[in-house]
Amino acid sequence: MRPEILNPLFTEVDALKGVGPQLTKLLNRLGLTRLIDVLYHLPTGAIERVRAPAANAPLLGRTVILELTPFDTRQSRSGRGPFRVLAADGDGNTITLIYFNNPGWAKKTLPMGELRIVSGKLDAYGDEWQIVHPEVAEPGKGPEPALREPIYPLTEGLTNRRIGELAAAALERAPELPEWIEPGLLARQGWRDWRGALAEAHREPGAGPTRKRLAYDEIFANQLTMMLLRQASRRKRGVPLAGTGELSGRLDLPYELTGAQRRVFEEIRGDMAQAAPMLRLLQGDVGSGKTLVALLAMLLAVESGAQAALLAPTEILARQHHATLLMQLDSIGVRVAILTGREKGRPRESVLMGLTDGSIDILVGTHAIFQEKVAYRNLGLAVIDEQHRFGVSQRLLLSAKAERPPHLLVMTATPIPRTLTLTQYGEMDVSRIDEMPPGRSPVETRVISEERLPEVVDALGRHVAAGGQAYWVCPLVEESEKSDAAAAEERARVLRLRLGEDKVGLVHGRMKGPEKDVVMARFAAGEVAVLVATTVIEVGVDVPNSTLMIVEGAERFGLAQLHQLRGRVGRGEGKSTCLLIRGANLTDVGRARLALMRETNDGFRIAEEDLRLRGPGEILGTRQSGEAGFRVATAEDVAELAPVATSDAQLLLDRDGGLAGERGQAARTCLYLFERDQAVGLIRSG
Ligand code: ADP
Ligand code: MG
Repeated sequence: MRPEILNPLFTEVDALKGVGPQLTKLLNRLGLTRLIDVLYHLPTGAIERVRAPAANAPLLGRTVILELTPFDTRQSRSGRGPFRVLAADGDGNTITLIYFNNPGWAKKTLPMGELRIVSGKLDAYGDEWQIVHPEVAEPGKGPEPALREPIYPLTEGLTNRRIGELAAAALERAPELPEWIEPGLLARQGWRDWRGALAEAHREPGAGPTRKRLAYDEIFANQLTMMLLRQASRRKRGVPLAGTGELSGRLDLPYELTGAQRRVFEEIRGDMAQAAPMLRLLQGDVGSGKTLVALLAMLLAVESGAQAALLAPTEILARQHHATLLMQLDSIGVRVAILTGREKGRPRESVLMGLTDGSIDILVGTHAIFQEKVAYRNLGLAVIDEQHRFGVSQRLLLSAKAERPPHLLVMTATPIPRTLTLTQYGEMDVSRIDEMPPGRSPVETRVISEERLPEVVDALGRHVAAGGQAYWVCPLVEESEKSDAAAAEERARVLRLRLGEDKVGLVHGRMKGPEKDVVMARFAAGEVAVLVATTVIEVGVDVPNSTLMIVEGAERFGLAQLHQLRGRVGRGEGKSTCLLIRGANLTDVGRARLALMRETNDGFRIAEEDLRLRGPGEILGTRQSGEAGFRVATAEDVAELAPVATSDAQLLLDRDGGLAGERGQAARTCLYLFERDQAVGLIRSG
């Protein structure tokens, strides 16, 4: 249960004075629903204003506060030009106040002959000094423009001032919290207390120790969660699975394991032989051969008399894995089944039965396979493929709740920089496959402007005429899945006109599972030459004959995502090409990012650079999902502070595993503050 002291922070925004349904709606649009959200909605900078008795040339270009007396107005004869109010300052200079709309309001707030406090950017236009759309206040009535005004991320209908006021009101209700940061660290860094730090962050926007402290809080809560997860999982006894080599020995592989595959499999084997459940992250670029390593680990489990489960992020991938496993395992007597949301009625019942009575050895599927109703007779190993949609909280459910938790192997092709691995998978040991299977030629990548789309379509036509296959990925559209689908449909229509009706298949997120499978199967069988898709094909799908990848609106994708898309090609013998089509209005960062894609095929290098260019939230796409979604901490903060936070969290748990002491209690508060409620459930009682 959340400590009472935090309750005021979790009340809804409409508890603040003057916040009615209208304002609530605007705030919600910014993701601000509770006071805590308002408190952590920090300014990104500040407007500095200069207050001066009169205008002068050195003030040009600055945001000024002047006392002016309006003495005349001008309206162009057509009524179409701006409305102008001429006003005099104390030295008798004339300043023209310009309104492009709403002259009625200008007349009302600037009555002739009356002194007003006027603020805005002072510009020169020829000989004339101007302020466009100034803010106006009446002396002695209502708030005057501040010398320094924090700038907040806004939405239409909200002003910096309004948000600042709400933040101040929220701060007034915010309690002083017990200190969870180790006193020595606090002193060394010169950090202040939590409430004081928040107040200052609103008052004095920008970097500095205040912001660092707030970032540290988030990182600390995160690392403490990871350490608790690790502790809770290690405390339980799993089942040691030593294997016999009997099944894997009968496996008929057309190739040798790479050195890297061999090494990581040995690491996994070492873990699984222990009673403490394995917690291991397997990182390896797309195409590095993770599936085979997973297969060997699953056979190890089956040889030891246990069951294994393989979780895929999408239905398409689950079916592909299932097909591959059936092909390799049926002949050696290993029983493989599939379970997704689509299996219903009788088939579903029979799978559930098979899991309970042990007649299924390996289950492949989507999230359905870890639902409560699914009971395993003896689950020894859970493998999670392409992990980024399976977050900490789900890992928690899987490994910490079970009486005898299974060994856990998480595989990801998303190249995550080392520093971020710590915050995303801090509770796990890490293995990396850093070597590709032999015979791969690197994908050649080119960046092409969208004006040259017709040339790209020509090239595609030639590629298809020569018997090649290709992917065409349509840009993500901001608003909805519906518009993604519409863009993809339109592109498919155009390509069909050009290449022939039956040459082009289409998959998008709004299609039903079976529909997608039919198209994917036809593409894999070579019956369809071009697969037009939204990013549903992003992960895993394997069609070696497809050697051309075209990505429209490439600048809108994350680099890790582009890298994964590119990994769909370059899987067969032939030389592969990736064409990144860019929009017309590319920013410098956008240009640099695409250039990087052209330059390297090294996923980890791409990830490190993207992190540097854009910051961690966007790379991991976690800001929305809330999984380790930091509101304050940046990539640099994580790099600098995560190791400190990890060792502090570990130290705290070593001394006070139940978090019952003074600092332990404070740390609990911190976990609740960042809504790591599940983590608190892991704290050893007594
Ligand atoms: P990942 O899941 O890591 O993206 P996969 O496991 O799908 O990669 O492997 C990609 C392709 O490489 C598959 O077609 C697989 O059969 C093949 N492969 C895996 N290991 C080897 C190896 N050691 N030598 C040759 N080919 C391999
Ligand atoms: Mg894979």
